[in-house]
Amino acid sequence: MDGMDLEMVEQVARLDEWVAEGDVVVLSGAGLSTDSGIPDYRGPSGSARRGSPMTYQTFTGDPVARRRYWARSHLGWRTIGDARPNDGHRAVARLQERGLLGGVITQNVDGLHQAAGARDVVELHGNLSRVVCLGCGAGSGRDELEERLSAANPGFAAVAATVNPDGDVELDDAEVAGFTVVDCLACGGVLKPDVVYFGETVPPERVSRSFALVAGARTLLVLGSSLTVMSGRRFVLRAVRDGIRVAIVNRGMTRGEPYADLVIDAPLGVILPNLAPLTV
Ligand SMILES: [Zn+2]
Repeated sequence: MDGMDLEMVEQVARLDEWVAEGDVVVLSGAGLSTDSGIPDYRGPSGSARRGSPMTYQTFTGDPVARRRYWARSHLGWRTIGDARPNDGHRAVARLQERGLLGGVITQNVDGLHQAAGARDVVELHGNLSRVVCLGCGAGSGRDELEERLSAANPGFAAVAATVNPDGDVELDDAEVAGFTVVDCLACGGVLKPDVVYFGETVPPERVSRSFALVAGARTLLVLGSSLTVMSGRRFVLRAVRDGIRVAIVNRGMTRGEPYADLVIDAPLGVILPNLAPLTV
C-alpha cells in the first residue's frame, strides 16, 4: 500500500472487510475509465468540458449539429475504440470471478468492464460500440458504421492530425459542411450511437434491473462517479433508504458523500488492486 497515509490504509482495510463479506454491487462512473484514456464523452454521466453537451433533442432535430457530431466522433472514435481496460476494471472482474459481487452497474459507455472479463454488466447509458436506427430500431455495430463513414468521406481522416490526445476534436464549419453522414441501410432512418443522451431517459428495464441488484446487495460500492446526475445517484439514495451500506472510491468531490458510510478520495488504480488480495 505504497503512497497511502495511515488513515487511507485503515479505510482500505475497512473496505476490504466489506468486500470479503460478498454481495457487493458495483456502480461505476467515468472516473474508472480515465486511466484508460477515455475522455468524458459528454453523456449524462459526465460534464461537458467544452460547450454544451449534446442533447437528444438537438441530435434528432438539428441535422447540422448531427453532422458535426458524427464528423467529430468519426475522427475521435479510435481513442475510444482502442482503449484498453485498466487495473481498476481488472480488479472488478477479479472480484466478480471470486464470487464477491452481486452485480455490476456502470454509467460508462466504453465496454471496458466486459473487456476486462466482467459479465452481466448493466450498461445504464448504453454502449458507444453499438448504433441504433431511430427509424426502424435496428441495431448495428459501430465498427461497421465507421467503415461506411470512412468510405463516404475519403480523405477526411487527414483532418485527424488535429485530434487531441483525449479524442476531442475541434472542427470549423467548413470542415463539418464537407462531411457526409450515413443513414440506416434498411430504412434510411437517422442513426444514433446506442447511448443515452441528456434529455433521454434510461430504458426502464435497465433501471429496474439495477434497483433489483441494489436491493440484494450487502454493500453498494461506487467507483469513480461524482454522482452528480440522478441516473446514478438514485441507486445510492435507494441503498440508504433500505439500510444498505454505501462505500465510495472516487478522485475528488462526490455528491454521494452525505450518504456514504465510507468515502475514499484516491485514484481507483491505487485502491482497487488492494481489495481481496489473493495472498494475505
Ligand atoms: Zn432503420
